[in-house]
Amino acid sequence: MTKVFLRKKIANRIANGHPWIYGNEIEKISGEVTGGDIVDVFFADGKFAGSGYINQKSQIAVRLLTRKKEEINEAFFYKSISDAWQYRKKIGYIENCRLVFGEADELPALIIDKFNDFFVIQTLSLGIDRWKPAIVKALQGIFNPKGIYERNDVPVRELEGLEQQKGFLSAPFDTNIIINENGLQFYVDIENGQKTGYFLDQCDNRRAIKNIVKDAEVLGAFTYTGTFEIHAAHYGAKQVLGLDISANAVEQANKNAKLNGLENICKFEAVNAFDALKNFTKEERKYDVVMLDPPAFTKSREHIDKAVSGYKEINLRGMKLLRNGGFLVTSSCTNLVSPDLFLHTIEAAAKDAKKKLRQVIFRAQASDHPIVWGLENTNYLKFLIVEVTDR
Ligand code: SAH
Repeated sequence: MTKVFLRKKIANRIANGHPWIYGNEIEKISGEVTGGDIVDVFFADGKFAGSGYINQKSQIAVRLLTRKKEEINEAFFYKSISDAWQYRKKIGYIENCRLVFGEADELPALIIDKFNDFFVIQTLSLGIDRWKPAIVKALQGIFNPKGIYERNDVPVRELEGLEQQKGFLSAPFDTNIIINENGLQFYVDIENGQKTGYFLDQCDNRRAIKNIVKDAEVLGAFTYTGTFEIHAAHYGAKQVLGLDISANAVEQANKNAKLNGLENICKFEAVNAFDALKNFTKEERKYDVVMLDPPAFTKSREHIDKAVSGYKEINLRGMKLLRNGGFLVTSSCTNLVSPDLFLHTIEAAAKDAKKKLRQVIFRAQASDHPIVWGLENTNYLKFLIVEVTDR
């Protein structure tokens, strides 16, 4: 087994349980190194740090899979995935859930979403990609699923020297499925939907709008397949308009509204939300609830400013479109913008819009995407509801 020895003067991060080892934290490597191999890692004093997979082409040279002296083999993946499933069941996420959330389940760079009997996986690094057959075998053994699909059409794989690809990892099946959520039904396009096909991370937050949308006129921007908007209609909104730049998303949203018999209440338009929010303000339109769930706006730390100004702009416009005492429901899904920075941005928007805010809810993603303390990037979603009044 190849051994990796760490430098003496490195941050406590690894000793404190963080699974990533950067190239500049390695003193020396004894034995042969082939990208993706399992290696044993030792601290400078010779103490065992754990085992993980190596890829010197990646900025993160080693990602640890275990801190114990144990073999990484098929049985290891079977047990890890079983443990992840036990945890989801224990905290009440059964029918649909993020079954494996990478580092948060000690399976770095592995994502598995469970849509009832169907599973969508992403292996986002070379080291985990190698274990795809073992992962598929474990899913088959634990769940006897109706289908498994790979959504590895993700650019980050290229940083690992991997190709982007997607396809069946089981016998082919109809990839347009229907899932249940909060008493509603939604189509999920496993093959061509965004990411793994559906954003499970907002499942609980969609339920959080229940009381404030009653009898309301609701505007939702960045609607994707209309999930928040259809929830709003289901919870008693009078009228709901959802906006998304993607015509395909709008088509799906319309199908979803119809599937739930809410097509008379929910309307969707394929437009750029930045333009639409601006135009609606000019037209002096007013809503009781405005919901915003934009994409990340940035993928890199250097462009956080751009993301922040994007958040500020849409939230400011959203606030201006509200009737006095209306509610803003707003999200941010990138870990690059911290919860603090997000709140400050909303505060700055309120100041410019001359509005006073009263907080109803501030929280993160659903708990099937666990936040592990010390692993900053597991804390990524911000979800805020505020009452907005004139100042
Ligand atoms: N609320 C959705 C997820 C939204 S994902 C859910 O809960 O499932 C973000 C969406 O924003 C994507 O569907 C994307 O097409 C859309 N989008 C990105 N830029 C946009 C823009 N400028 N205007 C409108 N929609 C945009």
